[in-house]
Amino acid sequence: MYVIADKRCLDYNAPGHPERPSRVEDTLKRLRLQDELEIEWESPVPVADELLELGHAADYLARLRNPARDFDGDTPAYAGIFDHARRAVGGTMKAQEAALQGHRAFSLSRPPGHHATSDRAMGFCYLSSVGLSALHAAVNLDKRVAVFDFDVHHGNGTESLLLDRRDLAFFSVHQHPCYPGTGATDSGNNCFNYPVPPRTPRNEYRKLLESVLRDLKRWKPDLIAVSAGFDAYVHDPLAQELLEVEDFRWLGEKLADLGVPFYSSLEGGYSSRLPDLIMAWLTGIDD
Ligand SMILES: [Zn+2]
Repeated sequence: MYVIADKRCLDYNAPGHPERPSRVEDTLKRLRLQDELEIEWESPVPVADELLELGHAADYLARLRNPARDFDGDTPAYAGIFDHARRAVGGTMKAQEAALQGHRAFSLSRPPGHHATSDRAMGFCYLSSVGLSALHAAVNLDKRVAVFDFDVHHGNGTESLLLDRRDLAFFSVHQHPCYPGTGATDSGNNCFNYPVPPRTPRNEYRKLLESVLRDLKRWKPDLIAVSAGFDAYVHDPLAQELLEVEDFRWLGEKLADLGVPFYSSLEGGYSSRLPDLIMAWLTGIDD
């Protein structure tokens, strides 16, 4: 199992913000202390401007390099945020590279990316790490790529990058109504949304996840990029779903059972149990 991490992602924060360094810091500790999984630690790869331009508008990227003000109330203009976000993209790209070489791989990084649209930072997200990696594999590597997003919030940013693009599809399971309010229905010809009401019983949530994975498999991807958010957990402070730790292990097993190469990248997850949730996911996908 490859885990891609870079401690510099701990170097920004705002008091009281739920997307805080301890999310990754505590998970690093948890993973270093366990001996169930054999982890090979890797670093993010460098990311060229051309990759960012595959999915984001040039004027938005210029603004992100030198932000004059916060992007919104949730999404501060942290010092150096462009470099942090670019390193998160590089972690996801490294995970993709490992997956294409036959490894299981997870990018443990921040900031998350799935709310960053082609021209806007929002919802704690600045660059669309998973969306960009999927675009790269489709455009430059001639792969047919499905993005599977199980973060409890709709991946509106990923959707904006992938909408109606050839050889790319987006499958998102998310609470609705919830932030950011989108994702109630499918979009374009390739973005498939599976809204779930708040407080959906676990067995129903699992059944839906299984049917989403069936739909995804039927689309016949060569590669699956996973936006791994852990905020559908019952005690997450930012949503109202009921999943337990073991459900993330179960989901990892189901995904691995598809027999399609895949890689995953951290999105949300704001409870103090995040290290255990990530450990459950990694245990599920381990081969
Ligand atoms: Zn989320």
